[in-house]
Amino acid sequence: MERSDAAVFTFHGEPTPGLVPFAEGLKEVFIKHGYAYEENPEAPRLVLNFITKERAKPYRRRAKATFVVSLMELPEVPAEPIKELYPYLVRALSNMLVAYVPGKGAHFLTLELGHYTEPEGEDFFERVFARINPIACSVLVIDNIFEPTLEPELWQGDELTAALARAGKKLAEWDLLPAPFPIETILPPEDLRHVKRLYGIGGLSYGNLSARKDERRFWMSASGVDKANLKEIGRDILMVKDYDPEKNAMILQVPPNVTPKRVSVDAIEHWMIYREHPEVGAIIHVHAWMEGVPETQFNYPCGTYQLAEAVAEKVREAPDPARAIVGLKNHGLTITGRSVDDILERIEGKLIPQVPMS
Ligand SMILES: [Zn+2]
Repeated sequence: MERSDAAVFTFHGEPTPGLVPFAEGLKEVFIKHGYAYEENPEAPRLVLNFITKERAKPYRRRAKATFVVSLMELPEVPAEPIKELYPYLVRALSNMLVAYVPGKGAHFLTLELGHYTEPEGEDFFERVFARINPIACSVLVIDNIFEPTLEPELWQGDELTAALARAGKKLAEWDLLPAPFPIETILPPEDLRHVKRLYGIGGLSYGNLSARKDERRFWMSASGVDKANLKEIGRDILMVKDYDPEKNAMILQVPPNVTPKRVSVDAIEHWMIYREHPEVGAIIHVHAWMEGVPETQFNYPCGTYQLAEAVAEKVREAPDPARAIVGLKNHGLTITGRSVDDILERIEGKLIPQVPMS
């Protein structure tokens, strides 16, 4: 990597005493892998943000392409890490939280509810680097361009949006839609706006559904909405027209006079799959698992081009790409089908609500 092209990383905040050697080890391993350390850089790729339970202060991103990993020292990993640590991840506006227990190891928690541990020992910092790097080197595709050009006959939806609404209800009945994380209750309005702008999310809910409309377009659930209650076109379900590579944005068609909601951050992934496989008619993503599925190698964040590519590659390798079930490591499943009902029939009774973590 040329020095001038090197991805820049920095520290923010003050480490507690136990975090000092951990931070030094991280700094060394990131530099070894071609990252450049700077103090107060304008647009860093990665910010390692020191927090404590009392002071979970966010780093205020100026650039969208900045990923924040918050580091916290703990005497031990709590018995229920998601329940106890997730609020700090959100409060510090981070993409990932690393709870470091001196002498024992690091526990990782991602925005997508992934959590896993690297014990201290041989190659510890290399292993920690390998966990953080997929986040630091990925590109978010979360901008939305809304065009009020949806055909009038689709303003109330069609048989495809009705099928998506039915499928959302089914997933809720099967208990596959974890309750949206109540970010609005722990973030002040200013931080909430910041999170929505930077991550392109309308709230933290998990899972999404889509159905192909024609050669290029597909319907998809909006970000942060209740998937068990998909109703309004432009607000619960959106028409994805295309991806604009120059603006790095998804193009949505909406009815006029609707204040649209953002499409799910995984729209780029669905777009890639529909484009490559004309026989795919629907895609469902849930945070659940199935025995024996092939899985992606790295834990890229939702809404990134890299996650989309990793999933698209697994779909391509499937015996029948139009009926593929792909595991997203430490995250969930993306399932393709000829139709929404085709997917539901194939997965009914086979899903494990708990995603295995490794
Ligand atoms: Zn997900």
